[in-house]
Amino acid sequence: ALSRSWEEVRADFPILAQSIHGHPLAYLDTAASAQMPQQVIDRLVWYHSTLHSNVHRGVHTLSQRATQAFEDVRLKVKNLLNARSLKECIFTGGTTDAINLVAHSFGKAFLKEGDRVLLSALEHHANIVPWQRICEEVGASIDVIPINDRGELILDGLDDLLTERTRIVGVNHVSNALGTVNPIEEIIARAHARDIPVLIDGAQAVAHMKVDVQALDADFYAFSSHKLCGPTGIGVLYGKEHWLEKMPPYRSGGDMILNVSWEGTTYNGLPHKFEAGTPSIAAGVGMGAAIDYLQELGFERIAAREAELLDKATERLSAIPGVRLIGTAEHKASVLSFDIEGVHPHDIGSILDSEGVAIRAGHHCAQPVMTRLGVPATARASFAFYNDDQDIDRLVAGIYSVKEIFGV
Ligand code: PMP
Repeated sequence: ALSRSWEEVRADFPILAQSIHGHPLAYLDTAASAQMPQQVIDRLVWYHSTLHSNVHRGVHTLSQRATQAFEDVRLKVKNLLNARSLKECIFTGGTTDAINLVAHSFGKAFLKEGDRVLLSALEHHANIVPWQRICEEVGASIDVIPINDRGELILDGLDDLLTERTRIVGVNHVSNALGTVNPIEEIIARAHARDIPVLIDGAQAVAHMKVDVQALDADFYAFSSHKLCGPTGIGVLYGKEHWLEKMPPYRSGGDMILNVSWEGTTYNGLPHKFEAGTPSIAAGVGMGAAIDYLQELGFERIAAREAELLDKATERLSAIPGVRLIGTAEHKASVLSFDIEGVHPHDIGSILDSEGVAIRAGHHCAQPVMTRLGVPATARASFAFYNDDQDIDRLVAGIYSVKEIFGV
């Protein structure tokens, strides 16, 4: 498998062979959702056609097989993240759901009036709004690690932001809006020096680099399957066992209990304590196939390939008059945000779409980043290992069409 060319790898993704508006698809929106290789689609078909049934409850064979297949994925997740134990790997609906779990459960247990939560100025709304809600509920408040004009976190004042009342830090590994790779090892070490746990939003990182939660010493790490070449509807919360043990259940119902009576209920052990109701079994099985696929390609190879594509695209776009790159951090992954003087990013997105080039335009669920950088929105091209030089050529050609249409 190691010797497969990138051209062969690209051919694993049937969706990329399509035409959109009469043009071959150039898919540059992986930061929103990565595409699925045939290997993942095949695993979904296998699940739906031979295993589909409910997990954890059945004595019958299909249910046992489905349970086995689903629990096998937990082991794949444990290996992917290098978690210590299966108990630390909780299936959630995605990154948003995982962060809500931590905000509400950790918040209920550990956030009191007057306490503080420290987030970064680069956060996705998914790592802002749940904290705002729990802080409002308990009377806590939020502090923010600032960024410079390049979109890099400024850590000079970090020790002052880690106050006596700071109970948790939340920061993304990679910014979805700008592509900045954040120095999370340093943030975690400095927070731990004051016994403050750290939640990492890994939505934009897991598919693009090797993540080792033990080496990072992250207390919580969240990601979504659909950013990892898997299906939508499932994701993961990694949490250190000693934190998860101390946290109350988040959603309640079947599967998360040991015993229910009208006098009271006892909860199931980890990880099931946090997994109420029937999970997205099929999506989970698909995520397992995606993990297998990426590990077989190898994260070092993936990262090198994507760095090459990002460098090329950065160079090509920088050379176009009127194009401004937004987010020029020294360490970046897979994301190229930009605008064109005199053109709204939505118009850039629409014109590119008419030429079969899929990018995202908007605030990328990171409005505070846009506000800080003084732009209403950006156009964002994002890359995966399955992109190629032609995709970049098409992006560049599309940008020249935009300039021509707008006369800029
Ligand atoms: N955080 C980051 C950094 C993201 O990029 C995203 C997805 N755009 C999310 C959180 C939310 O992920 P999901 O929509 O899969 O819950």
